[in-house]
Amino acid sequence: MKILVVGGAGYIGSHMIKRFQNTDHQIDVLDNLSTGFKENSQNYKLHICDLSNKEQVHKILKENKYEMVMHFASSINVGESYDHPMKYYENNVINTLNLLECMIDLKILNFIFSSTAAVYGEPESIPIKEAQNLSPINPYGKTKSVVENILSDYDKSYGLKYISLRYFNACGAHIDGTIGERHNPETHLIPLILQTASGRRNNFKIYGDDYKTKDGTCVRDYIHVMDIAEAHLLSLEKLIQTQSSDIYNIGNEQGYSVREIIDMVEEITQTKIPYKISEKRKGDPAVLIADNSKITEKLNWRAKYSDLNTIINTAWEWEKKLSNF
Ligand code: UDP
Repeated sequence: MKILVVGGAGYIGSHMIKRFQNTDHQIDVLDNLSTGFKENSQNYKLHICDLSNKEQVHKILKENKYEMVMHFASSINVGESYDHPMKYYENNVINTLNLLECMIDLKILNFIFSSTAAVYGEPESIPIKEAQNLSPINPYGKTKSVVENILSDYDKSYGLKYISLRYFNACGAHIDGTIGERHNPETHLIPLILQTASGRRNNFKIYGDDYKTKDGTCVRDYIHVMDIAEAHLLSLEKLIQTQSSDIYNIGNEQGYSVREIIDMVEEITQTKIPYKISEKRKGDPAVLIADNSKITEKLNWRAKYSDLNTIINTAWEWEKKLSNF
């Protein structure tokens, strides 16, 4: 199939396009390079384009006759989404609408969407099943939930067939050491702790230690980026085969607290991590752990790289490369 990977120069998108090597699919990338890196997509045709430019998006889709679009390009930072909700609604909702409008006009009706566990808000129960009510508590999660609603309506009215993948905490780096996580500024837990281990940062802040969890710090379900890429490949094959829309969690059903992550980093890097306890971050649920039975049963997906050891080791190899440790 001829597939356009929007956001293919970013963290998860770059692992996806690498996963496509040695498959029969033909892949091109569209990216505005606002947070992605050109070298991440060096083996592919890259359209440098912003989704706000609807005319250019339409032209690219039409000229290249894509049959499927995978959409990884979005703003992903919970804290920033409180400070700049306009940026989040524009980039995550309006720009996605532009893309979908062009696709529907050109009858490109296959779509894979990067959603998030943030759509659940404070979960009703743990582990979280896809059927739980969605009540996102931060603007980031709300933008993703809005798009999921749009997708459902576009399926009913325009025949758009989609799979929405709700990621839990994406992390880790490619096992061959060539690509990994590189955000600027970095806000995610594991790279921040590793930057403290490599000396790129002086210390690290734990956002709150009085949550109702085993040690008071937030618990998350960490899922290796290569397992996320595999879930996308299985999803698109399922979509081609069944032409039926669906939604899946991508998580590992394991919860680790912030302190447990620090402990594991200290063990692997053999470095003491200096940290301070600071105020809770707005919009952080205490515990997010996936129920992944739907994706394991329906897509036969299994997490292969998401044990904490592999996650931290691959991320540490990548951090050593970035920091010349
Ligand atoms: N966290 C923290 N200090 C940091 C960054 C994150 O204590 O400097 C915590 C955060 O409160 C959350 C967990 O680490 O409970 C994972 O946060 P991250 O931003 O990596 O992912 P999110 O869960 O927001 O998608």
